[in-house]
Amino acid sequence: MASLYRKEIRSLKGVGERRAELFQKLGVSSVGALLRDYPRAYEDLSSPCTVRSAPAGAPCAVRACVTESPKGTRIRGGMTLYRGRADDGESEFSLLFFNNPYVADLLREGHEYVFYGKVTADFLKYEMTSPEFFPAETCPAVKPVYHQTQGLNSRLIAGCMKEALLLLPENLLDPLPPSVREEYSLCGLREAMEQIHFPVSLAAAETARRRLIFEELLVLQLGLSLMKDRGTGESGFRLEDDRSEEFFRLLPYSLTKAQRRAVGEAITDMSSGRVMNRLVQGDVGSGKTAVAAALCYCAAKNGMQAALMAPTEILARQHYEALRKIFEPAGIPTALLTASVSTAQKVETLAGLADGSIGLVVGTHALLSRNVTFRRLGLVVTDEQHRFGVSQRAALSEKGDHPHLLVMSATPIPRTLALMIYGDLDLSVLDELPPGRQKIRTYAIASDKRLRAFGFLRKQIEAGHQCYIICPMIEEGQNDMASVTQYAEKLRSKWLPGCSIAALHGRMKPKEKDSVMRHFASGEVSVLVSTTVVEVGVDVPNATVMMVENAERYGLSQLHQLRGRVGRGKDQSYCILVSDAQNEETTARLGVLCATNDGFRIADADLKLRGPGDFFGNRQHGLPALKIADMAADMDCLNLAQKAARDILSADPSLDLPEHRGLRAETRQLFSHLERS
Ligand code: ADP
Ligand code: MG
Repeated sequence: MASLYRKEIRSLKGVGERRAELFQKLGVSSVGALLRDYPRAYEDLSSPCTVRSAPAGAPCAVRACVTESPKGTRIRGGMTLYRGRADDGESEFSLLFFNNPYVADLLREGHEYVFYGKVTADFLKYEMTSPEFFPAETCPAVKPVYHQTQGLNSRLIAGCMKEALLLLPENLLDPLPPSVREEYSLCGLREAMEQIHFPVSLAAAETARRRLIFEELLVLQLGLSLMKDRGTGESGFRLEDDRSEEFFRLLPYSLTKAQRRAVGEAITDMSSGRVMNRLVQGDVGSGKTAVAAALCYCAAKNGMQAALMAPTEILARQHYEALRKIFEPAGIPTALLTASVSTAQKVETLAGLADGSIGLVVGTHALLSRNVTFRRLGLVVTDEQHRFGVSQRAALSEKGDHPHLLVMSATPIPRTLALMIYGDLDLSVLDELPPGRQKIRTYAIASDKRLRAFGFLRKQIEAGHQCYIICPMIEEGQNDMASVTQYAEKLRSKWLPGCSIAALHGRMKPKEKDSVMRHFASGEVSVLVSTTVVEVGVDVPNATVMMVENAERYGLSQLHQLRGRVGRGKDQSYCILVSDAQNEETTARLGVLCATNDGFRIADADLKLRGPGDFFGNRQHGLPALKIADMAADMDCLNLAQKAARDILSADPSLDLPEHRGLRAETRQLFSHLERS
């Protein structure tokens, strides 16, 4: 296969410059990539029915003899209708085609064909409109259906696929070694390739599919394992002195049981001499930051440095401001490192990290740059874990001598999947919110109720609270989507005159963003009109209203995150979802939010509504996109692939053996996107 990944798609017969570009649109640039572009569905032509027994509303295959070849008549709009007749041995039925003069020649009287399409019935008169058809003698049993794009339909793709299959080398290297194929009863690569594209039966396609799913998940698992440098499992830093109780006393509140348990579990890990690899999973507002802070504090008090990485500048700054207030008086120098801190500041911070005088650094991706070095990095924390890619996680750890690793995420994921993404990871769950939190009341409204909503906002502001309003656009676009800048303007002049309003979006300079957030956090600004830059992590407990314009544009989990910006204090909070979208899917989605505050249930519903492919899309966890496997649906296969990966790696830790050459090549291929980005 490796050589076919290097063979350009243009080398196929019938693929010129233009088609090559269209293939590019489908993400296919080489012959190898084409072969890995599997059908999205199949048409089963193997057991035709009669029009009388055809299922209602679903396409099916009908075998019939043409009794009248189609003839054209002009109809309105300059169209020509071709009408013919056929007999399936039980009933006669009509065949209708529009503007297709060729059918007259292709469908010959007295010949048998297999027609594929929907059968419609009307007073016992049966019809098939624009069916596909194949001469009965040469009709395949199963026809593949490919994802197509304008100008490149499934039939054309199938044609190219036939060509591509001919290019499979005689001595094709199967990435799966014979021993693995035998153990898991999997067919060979050549058979899989032929049968996934042009199966002799649906069962054969399924056999091929199973093997290809297994291979893909195995390659994914191997790639992830190779990328993680777990070393010997020994950490350069063993925590001797548990100072967490001392830290808890510095906080204005007492920790929840769940928070204490998570801290305790991590302390045990860090004292063991082995590297900690722990995921803290807790719904929005469950207090993950305090857990991270306690551990950073302990690391620093034990003479080590800690690094806390957040996905956005706003969040990094917020963590920095909050932690500095506790850490500095306690004698732990704390610094912020993001792309926008001044050069002078950066130079000072880099020096402090290199000589070990800075105990805690909070930052964004900027922490990963090459000139950041640590004297003794003992603990790495990543907040909102799912926003980072696999390789980014590894990059920060590599700046120390096997530092302990704590990752935090609000996105609940199934345990097996967590294992796959994060490797051999221990889990702490924050299954409890801090006391006194009230359920956020959530309402979905149409835009004609907006003025009433503003009346409600005003009352909240007069009671001393603050509000967020989320708009999808920064500036007014062509469509009627709400824009941050204009919306803020209207609030000032018309809707909420006299209230202090500020706008925030990703295109503002970091300094401006920072100043807006500061004014909002301090309460000087009452209404923050923002894009989703505030989606994760932002913590202003005095804010009690989250209003989301064009709510139909966001996924469930995203809306849940946005809603999580309020209800972070003792006061009753509200979420108002504004949408004029009438479709069922939106109504269902917004309905789920109105009905529950539970992040786990929302993720579950999200999974059902969007389908696993999308839910586990790249953005959630930074894994490469999979071609055939579906990590949620193919969970059994995932477990088997994980076992196979462990066996393979324990015998051959870096895939050097000749029989693993193919697996190694496929691993590179799968992760090539990640390395480039
Ligand atoms: P998340 O888990 O979403 O990151 P945060 O760590 O930002 O949540 O905490 C949410 C809010 O709850 C913050 O204002 C924080 O100060 C507060 N908080 C955290 N733990 C407690 C606690 N045990 N008691 C009261 N308030 C808490
Ligand atoms: Mg957080």
